Amino acid sequence: MPAAAYYTLGCKVNQYETEKIREELDRLGFSTVNFASQADVYVINSCTVTGMADAKSRRAIRQAARRNPNAFVVATGCYAELEPAQVGGIEGVDLVVGNDQKESIPERLVARFPNLRRNGGAGIRPRTRTRAIVKIQDGCNQFCAYCAVAYARSRQWSREISDVVEEISTLAGFGYREIVLTGIRLGSYAFGLPALIRSAAEVDGIERIRLSSIEVWEVDEELLRTIAENPKACRHLHMPLQSGDDGVLKLMRRPYAPDYYARTVEKAREMIPELGLTTDVMVGFPGETDDAFQRSYEFVRDMGFSRLHVFRYSPRPGTAAASFSDRVPEAEKSRRSELMIELGTELADRFAGRLVGQTVDVLAEPKRGEFISGFTDNYVEVRFLGGESLRGRIVPVRVESATADGVIASLASGIGD
Ligand code: SF4
Repeated sequence: MPAAAYYTLGCKVNQYETEKIREELDRLGFSTVNFASQADVYVINSCTVTGMADAKSRRAIRQAARRNPNAFVVATGCYAELEPAQVGGIEGVDLVVGNDQKESIPERLVARFPNLRRNGGAGIRPRTRTRAIVKIQDGCNQFCAYCAVAYARSRQWSREISDVVEEISTLAGFGYREIVLTGIRLGSYAFGLPALIRSAAEVDGIERIRLSSIEVWEVDEELLRTIAENPKACRHLHMPLQSGDDGVLKLMRRPYAPDYYARTVEKAREMIPELGLTTDVMVGFPGETDDAFQRSYEFVRDMGFSRLHVFRYSPRPGTAAASFSDRVPEAEKSRRSELMIELGTELADRFAGRLVGQTVDVLAEPKRGEFISGFTDNYVEVRFLGGESLRGRIVPVRVESATADGVIASLASGIGD
């Protein structure tokens, strides 16, 4: 049995697409091995969201080629899509495949391994993560000034509700309790997110439905009501802010002002008590003056996010902002990034601290060291002592303390491990 190893960079859509390739290769007779092992095939699913993502993608490709110089190395994903010549030029790369052709990777590999013994029928196979990601949409037509993703995945389409629900039912059959609905621009889902959430909630065995990232202008009252009224819908929204300064948002070509964002947050919190609100913030966008950064910082603080992902702006070739002047020096970007990360930690601690003394439900993930870790439905990471047999189950735990690296809890009485 030839061995295949996978490495995924970037977003949940990429993670889902790697799983799909793995499912198909498993079925065709490949075994899956760890990326750090010797494999016959390496599939690197790259990302281009920042300059750092490009560099990490290149590093992973080189690592694979070095690990086994005779292996067949396939590079795919957004970086491979936008820079095929650069990626193809890396020593050891055998095949570069764009996003639209990802599904053809298994077929193309079969031709190189003629003695494969097929491994059962087609269909979805158990995924490697505790939460199952389900892609419901692809593509973005927004073209924010900094973003290359819209170019790497330009076609905007959505899967039918019945098709998505069928996949969720299969995943529930494998024992998954939580699914994460994901897309490049989830909120543009053509058949209505509220209707999909309601249908997904009817699937037996599914206990949690989480939305991945959703743009603020696509969060409407019906969606908030659906989350509020449906006990399976996670009380968590990840709404990318990018900047809390009106001028910078305009330069970024983001179609909202900070006031609008704040009003949506207010409404969401009113309708969904204990909402976990997470976001992405970019620092050092061209034209972000000291004052603009300060306004952004204060806005982030006032929103009281429960978790921040901080990015330093890096010019992406082919995007509008790549030609903007008023660049922010690297040292200043680092300073702003450190300040924002520090604020993010403070806000996360404050939100998590509110859980101390409460009993919360956690989806137990694989053990890390002696602790099991997992997330509450409002996306606070919790660690507690317990056996590996709890993995994949939703268990009640009592939160004892909030520390610098997350919340510590103990299993509520009556829960065996
Ligand atoms: S909404 Fe903007 S940031 Fe998001 S994928 Fe589309 S272009 Fe990129």
